Amino acid sequence: WLPLGILLGLAAAAAMLMFIRSRGSMVGQLRDAIRRKRLVMHYQPIVDLASRRCIGAEALVRWPQQHGTMIRPDVFVPLAEDNGLIQPMTDLVLELICADMATLLQLRSDLYVSINLAAIDLSTDRFIQVLAHKLPQAGIESARLAIEATERGFMDVNSAQEVIGKLRAAGHKVLIDDFGTGYSGLSYLQTFQVDVLKIDKSFIDTVGTEAATASVAPHIVEIGHALKLKIIAEGVESEDQAQWLQAHGVQSGQGWLFGKPMPAAAFLAFLAQDRQK
Ligand code: C2E
Ligand code: CA
Ligand code: CA
Ligand code: CA
Repeated sequence: WLPLGILLGLAAAAAMLMFIRSRGSMVGQLRDAIRRKRLVMHYQPIVDLASRRCIGAEALVRWPQQHGTMIRPDVFVPLAEDNGLIQPMTDLVLELICADMATLLQLRSDLYVSINLAAIDLSTDRFIQVLAHKLPQAGIESARLAIEATERGFMDVNSAQEVIGKLRAAGHKVLIDDFGTGYSGLSYLQTFQVDVLKIDKSFIDTVGTEAATASVAPHIVEIGHALKLKIIAEGVESEDQAQWLQAHGVQSGQGWLFGKPMPAAAFLAFLAQDRQK
């Protein structure tokens, strides 16, 4: 049995080595894709639940592959985080958003686009400087670019609070993303000034069902109201969910019911249709 054990051990080690190698080359490819500006942005509509009119969009990054497929950000954003690639990635994401916004704002000057920031982006002033430089250059007012920050993203709550304060002072709206799923507790909300809570999809999924999180959803909405914050529900897929949210005083929604994330050109066509509402 010993040789078999050794053989199996060797096979496992070889598999591990191959796995590490493929991760390694994936990081290299990602670094290369960022350097060559080969990421693209998709835009998902955010609508006013009462009028169903589009008021904004979330910018979601995609990594196109040779055969026309896309690698999802759930896969490569953590890879970027672990390998020192977040800052160049966030800078590229901002650059791509600015380019797309030039056209989007021509069609709808009151629209906002929200950008997702990683924990590293919220830990220093660096990205604030980038924004202060890039937005005037692109002729975009700070009110047109909202910032999405997750609770997970508060690596250091004090520096995140400082950065968020400065972003708001510069005129950006700050959205707390994936609200309800963080580990930081709610106490930070008493000291942090933010503008919007985005309720995580996991709570919206179970609205109107018997699942445990369904009974949590009304309380999460209540917290938003108590703090006098605007609320966006994410992952709205059904008309029933939209009705429930509206009845509970949630102003805005985002989800497949209203529109999936789409390339800028498709979002432009979506907005042209939306104008008739
Ligand atoms: P997120 O910020 O929570 O983004 C919402 C995710 O939910 C998106 O996945 C979106 O496509 C998906 N979604 C929206 N509505 C629905 C729905 O009705 N049904 C279902 N099943 N899904 C819905 P996506 O685009 O794959 O992004 C995943 C995550 O990657 C994002 O979660 C965000 O944390 C991260 N991410 C995306 N773009 C960026 C970026 O530019 N920078 C950074 N740092 N992270 C990003
Ligand atoms: Ca987000
Ligand atoms: Ca979210
Ligand atoms: Ca989410």
